[in-house]
Amino acid sequence: MRILLVEDDDRVAAALRPALRRHGMSMVRLSAGRDVVAHLGEVDVVLLDLGLPDMDGVDVCRAIRDTSDLPIIIVSARGEVDDRILGLHSGADDYLVKPYDVGELVARVEAVYRRRRVGPGSLTPELIEVDGVSLDLARHTVVVDGESVTLSRKEFQVLALLATAGGAVCTRNRIVAEVWGRSWPGANRTLDVHVATLRTKLRRPELVQTVRGVGYRLDLPTTGE
Ligand code: CA
Repeated sequence: MRILLVEDDDRVAAALRPALRRHGMSMVRLSAGRDVVAHLGEVDVVLLDLGLPDMDGVDVCRAIRDTSDLPIIIVSARGEVDDRILGLHSGADDYLVKPYDVGELVARVEAVYRRRRVGPGSLTPELIEVDGVSLDLARHTVVVDGESVTLSRKEFQVLALLATAGGAVCTRNRIVAEVWGRSWPGANRTLDVHVATLRTKLRRPELVQTVRGVGYRLDLPTTGE
């Protein structure tokens, strides 16, 4: 398992590295918040300090959540209930107050990682490749023609849902229900906008096909026939 540690305190980072290694985890460390999003494709879990020199960790957490479902644990000296609530509302999966016990930290890392792995995608292949588009369902990353492409969380979920349907049509109702968890009068329009940006970002206008009056499907090569 690979851990992204976002922490400006060298002593904390130095103490953590050997402890993680003993548990079979490797560590990538950043001492500021600005480059975090660029490193998300390389790791499995993010450990995030809130007091960073360039940004508030809560804003870093939101920025991660805009593009990724990676598990995030906030590790902070701010232990007030309000801080914890704010951290969890900004998209973190867990919150640990410094000073912490390393054994507890490792246990929580393993727990958030496990929870993500047994999500709805666990019965489907983790890597789907279509026409130069490679979709990693576990890492929530997309690579197009060898280049990493940043999708919003919802765009990724729409694409993942269509990809795991294996070329079958997904109805609008189903996509809206599964991706947004609710429906509302403007839902169809919102879905159309997400599909339009997906087509542009993937540079594959034909890949996501409109099935008029029904929904969307991916234009996958037929196999096994
Ligand atoms: Ca700090």
